[in-house]
Amino acid sequence: MKKTKIICTIGPASASLKTIEEMARAGMDVVRLNLSHGDQAFHKKVILHVRKLSKTLNRPIGVMLDLQGPKIRLGNLERPVQLKKGENVILYYEKHELPETHYKILPVQEDLRSSLKKDDPVFIDDGRILLKVSRVQGLRVWTQVTTGGEVSSHKGLNLPRSVVKIPIISKKDEDDLKFGLANDVDFIALSFVQNPHDILGLQRLIKKYSPDNSEPPWIISKIEKPEGVKNFSKILQYSTGAMVARGDLGVEIPAHEVPLIQKKIIEECLRSAKSSVVATQMLDSMVASPTPTRAEVSDVAGAVVDHADAVMLSQETAVGKYPVKAVETMVKIIDEVEKSPYDDLRHGFLSDQKTSRAAAVADSAHELSKNTDAKAIVGATLSGFTARMISHQRPQNAQIIMMTNSDKVYRQMSLIWGVRPFFMPRCRTLEEIISKAVGLARRQKLVSKGDKIVVVTGQPVGMRENMNLVEVQTV
Ligand code: ATP
Ligand code: MG
Ligand code: MG
Repeated sequence: MKKTKIICTIGPASASLKTIEEMARAGMDVVRLNLSHGDQAFHKKVILHVRKLSKTLNRPIGVMLDLQGPKIRLGNLERPVQLKKGENVILYYEKHELPETHYKILPVQEDLRSSLKKDDPVFIDDGRILLKVSRVQGLRVWTQVTTGGEVSSHKGLNLPRSVVKIPIISKKDEDDLKFGLANDVDFIALSFVQNPHDILGLQRLIKKYSPDNSEPPWIISKIEKPEGVKNFSKILQYSTGAMVARGDLGVEIPAHEVPLIQKKIIEECLRSAKSSVVATQMLDSMVASPTPTRAEVSDVAGAVVDHADAVMLSQETAVGKYPVKAVETMVKIIDEVEKSPYDDLRHGFLSDQKTSRAAAVADSAHELSKNTDAKAIVGATLSGFTARMISHQRPQNAQIIMMTNSDKVYRQMSLIWGVRPFFMPRCRTLEEIISKAVGLARRQKLVSKGDKIVVVTGQPVGMRENMNLVEVQTV
């Protein structure tokens, strides 16, 4: 079974129960709902499909709610618009009313008149399209098309030379967050995170709107701005994971810097037992074609070698012609790479740092599993922390089997590399955890009689982030 997890963005091409099921059976672990698109009714339906399916398949499928954040976007277009090189196009604030004109016009969700001046570039849709400002006049921002193409509703704009002050969490984001919490989503991804305050603000809102005593969602910080890269370490401290959001990142900073930033972000996530996601354009040509380019195949393989927890599909599954094929393609690449010894981690990658007791225990569990040729590392977790600690050792041979008594943590573990989550009612003693774990591993046919397994637990039982016991057992 593959260990690197797959996240699929759900859009019109994939929202039916049938397609979601096919994608899940093919290897999808988490669905991403991009609240920049679609309405809450659309997303609600997807969440219900996913929960139902999860029961049928007896496997958790996580739900990630992606808050649009301070991205400038086009407004509603009745139909897609073709922009041709050299053509003059007017941008205008969607709340203004423009008098009739025979020029092409594009509504924008923000008033950009004071942020743009002559010769400023305006990128649309992750940089695919480039306009250059020719003048700002009255309600109109006049531009000329430098690189043309098709644009449709709500496509994102990047203005790398301008500063537009928009709060990181808008009214719409707050409303979408409420919606997500009411529907018990597992991960909140926040776009354009620039500093730790952005995350602290989100945490406050999560507290404010969460039902009492509910397990909090994990916060995944999307890194797609130069400031986000610069402040990454501090941002990560307050997040549960990070997404290398390469679409915007590659427009906001030179695209050739993105591959190494990807490696650095993943490495830092590994060191601090946080989850990492590589996103955008991974199999982009599969939006229209049943086979990917060689370069795309290498890109997915590269992310696996870099040790990302998860790789993500965006357009490919949201609006592409081959959503299921895209997942199948990813699975094949992941399987192939994971069989190989190629590995970017230096030997002793984690053990060279003196951190917490938990890290030391995870390290010993991994070492023990190698030395005893154990078939599995088995543990119980209340918050998912133990699962992340073990996973971040990236054990090559032993399976990682993690039990939890929380529905949400069960689903959240869908994002952690290599972890096979199981739901298990709360155990009272250490002996009970161990015997249940062994029984479970056997029933699931993950181990058989005579196999060795490494069991990781914490004493006293029932405390969070409290790994302190490692034991080798023979099944
Ligand atoms: P982001 O910068 O947050 O990634 P995006 O506009 O690039 O935003 P993706 O999530 O990458 O969006 O999805 C790719 C495209 O799929 C979107 O631009 C949009 O056209 C379409 N899409 C995604 N989700 C939906 C949806 N729920 N309803 C309609 N279209 C969607
Ligand atoms: Mg995108
Ligand atoms: Mg984005």
